[in-house]
Amino acid sequence: MTKVAQVLDEVTLYGDHPADRITQGLLRLNTAMRNRAWNWAESAGLTPTQGEILMLLMQRKKPLRLNDIARETALTAATTSDAVSTLEEKGLLEKRRALDDRRALAVKLTPRGRTAAKRAAQWPGFVSGALSALRDDEQTAVYSGLFKLIRELEIRGTMPAHRMCGTCRWFEPANADGARRGTRAKVAKPDSFRCVTLDQALDRSTLRLDCLAYEAGDVGTQARNWKLLKQI
Ligand code: SF4
Repeated sequence: MTKVAQVLDEVTLYGDHPADRITQGLLRLNTAMRNRAWNWAESAGLTPTQGEILMLLMQRKKPLRLNDIARETALTAATTSDAVSTLEEKGLLEKRRALDDRRALAVKLTPRGRTAAKRAAQWPGFVSGALSALRDDEQTAVYSGLFKLIRELEIRGTMPAHRMCGTCRWFEPANADGARRGTRAKVAKPDSFRCVTLDQALDRSTLRLDCLAYEAGDVGTQARNWKLLKQI
């Protein structure tokens, strides 16, 4: 087979639309990240799944129930239960009663678990290091594209829901308050938003994917947010 035929064969296999090329790029990135995660986890005496659970508990800053961990990490209940038991045996987690339901159990990090979680949070640094070589406008374009891709996957039911601006009740166009009071122009710049509860300006580079102040909006709010975000 000639070189040209080989290339055409590959194009037929993977597709030649921008969406196909991006998918290939994400697959390559996934391979590199999986390798790094395994290397890090092995050196820490953990599995990547255990590291992910530690990082999730560190980000949430509160005890989580097993079913919450399973939902947020997209793991099965059995895998989550096994990983949590192992982490408990290693002294990195402890079980306690859930704050909102004394009959239910939740898990929290021990001081040793917090130290391990901080170390686990460092392995993706090889990607952020490489991204810093891109121009600011390129980084913004990558982030806003990824943000919208993640939201679209959520809508299609192929990714767990995130605590993101895209579905948050506090997200609105930058001039919504002024428009309500009739004191400012009613049309906001498409890339200009506001977080009501934090009283902060947001744009396509500062939208949040995982936010402690998040509160889910109703169906109408989520649809409005998506309409706004699709324009950026
Ligand atoms: S910054 Fe947080 S609280 Fe504000 S709109 Fe975004 S997700 Fe909601």
